Amino acid sequence: MEMEVIQGLGVSSGVAVGKAICLETRNDEVYRFPLPEDLIEEEIERFRRAAERAREEVHSLGQRVGAELGEELGAIFEAHALLLRDPQLLDRIEARIREEHVNAEWAVLETTTELRQQFARFQMERFRERGEDIQDVGRHLIRSIQGLSHHELSEIEGDVVVIADDLTPSDAVRLGRQGVVGFAIEVGGQTSHTAIIAHSLKIPLVTGLPGITRLAAHEDPVVVDGDSGRVILHPTDTALDEYREERESARLREEELAATGGLESVTRDGVEIRIMANIDLSEELDDALRYGARGIGLYRSEFLYIEKSPELPSEEDHYRLYRSILERMSPEPVILRTYDLGGRKLAREVMETREGKPVLVLRGIRQTLARPRIYREQLRGIFRAGCHGDLRVMLPLVSTLEEVRRFRAFAETVKDELDEEGIEYCRDFDLGIMIEVPSAALIADHLAREVDFFSIGTNDLIQYSLAADRNNEHVTDLYQPLHPGLLRMIQGVIEAADQAEIPVTVCGEMAGDPVGAAVLIGLGIRALSVSPRRIPVLKSRVRTLDLARLEEPVRRCLDLASQSEVEELLEEILEHAPETTQQTAS
Ligand code: PEP
Ligand code: MG
Repeated sequence: MEMEVIQGLGVSSGVAVGKAICLETRNDEVYRFPLPEDLIEEEIERFRRAAERAREEVHSLGQRVGAELGEELGAIFEAHALLLRDPQLLDRIEARIREEHVNAEWAVLETTTELRQQFARFQMERFRERGEDIQDVGRHLIRSIQGLSHHELSEIEGDVVVIADDLTPSDAVRLGRQGVVGFAIEVGGQTSHTAIIAHSLKIPLVTGLPGITRLAAHEDPVVVDGDSGRVILHPTDTALDEYREERESARLREEELAATGGLESVTRDGVEIRIMANIDLSEELDDALRYGARGIGLYRSEFLYIEKSPELPSEEDHYRLYRSILERMSPEPVILRTYDLGGRKLAREVMETREGKPVLVLRGIRQTLARPRIYREQLRGIFRAGCHGDLRVMLPLVSTLEEVRRFRAFAETVKDELDEEGIEYCRDFDLGIMIEVPSAALIADHLAREVDFFSIGTNDLIQYSLAADRNNEHVTDLYQPLHPGLLRMIQGVIEAADQAEIPVTVCGEMAGDPVGAAVLIGLGIRALSVSPRRIPVLKSRVRTLDLARLEEPVRRCLDLASQSEVEELLEEILEHAPETTQQTAS
């Protein structure tokens, strides 16, 4: 086979070399097998057993989701369980197996796709939704027939590169922990949570590769180069050798960088810039300590939920994990962000609800207030763990003042409960909020009087300000961290925080980009929180800066009209030409 080089978007750095496994997460993996007459009854039996299993699974999932996330969501699964009992659907599938002599998975896929298309032609929303339900049920059935609720990788020997149409953050965690060495996926933006997770797990990821699942076949040799954004199918021996060498030198570079852990993060003119760590997965704590993080500036607690899915983490799970983080980081502070669930951050089963625009949904603090039950367990765990270190609590996706007030009232009820039960916990902790929605940035002066600190989440602030979905590779060009509109907003937040005398940190990916960080520091930011792997490079950047020379030109950027004008100006003033202005998780 000829070597083929496909250019995509590198969003998690490094080089991976391995054998491909192709997953189509939207359609599952369904192949058509012709069946001889004497195997037909056996196939129908297999289908019936799978349908029974799917019914039980969906029913219990519905009960759990209903109890934990509210009845409307639970009802979706109950409707699916009913469909899985519907003889009209089941008989059609069986008839297809019999008449067309095909395997059960294929019969399910064909039948449910056909029905969905028929329902889609109706004007009434109710019918169209029925068609979507049928398709969801088809997916459950197919997974159940295949005897897998998730794809198994164990049968492939050696290093595995996953090639997929799409990958949720929870897929990335699961597959990454199974030892996958690289990801190449059709869709996904630069600061998507999948990209962030791949980076946390040190797994190269290239996105923006339409049709790659059709081009590659199982077990094809493949290279994923997360730095250049290239994917190489059927690499020649020479290309393979080159990439292996590149991988080795990257490993050595990383080791060298680790040695900077003890260096101070101060500018040339002696201003200290505090560098903290963003933690998604517990395995990143070691790197945070190794690279000398001055605390955890963002602990994305939702990944505990995603890791545990389909189980819900218990109060004890929260308590134990947070306590160990606080103890390991002590005496440095740890900012625990309450679950930022919703949109693409919910586990797969809940994501399969029909939320049209995944970024404008019941996410973050909105979920907390709407479905307090799962958050109560989390808060109890957080408050109890607070006795073991410098705990700070942060709320995600705040867009109104009332959300903060309602959260405080909710937290009081949790404390009352702990008091009544005589359980020891931390009464006084700083409460801060993420500034990542434009409405919050614009009322930062009011919010600053209600909370103890701010942390600017540029990943979301950029997507909501520029109306450019961070998960969508088609709007990459519009996802502009240096847009003067965004810089003005950040400056307003810094001023509001200064006036109220509360600290302000930046914890979005922009903070870890050498150019982005310089601009933020020039605007007055003195604390940045970044992925642990970025700390060494960021420290080196800080040590090249001279605030006396930086602040005035950065202020001038606020009066410019476009990102490209800002880039031009920065190129002149930064000692080294900007390495990148594209925010990537790489
Ligand atoms: C952000 O939005 O910048 C942020 C840090 O939060 P997350 O990436 O988890 O949405
Ligand atoms: Mg965010």
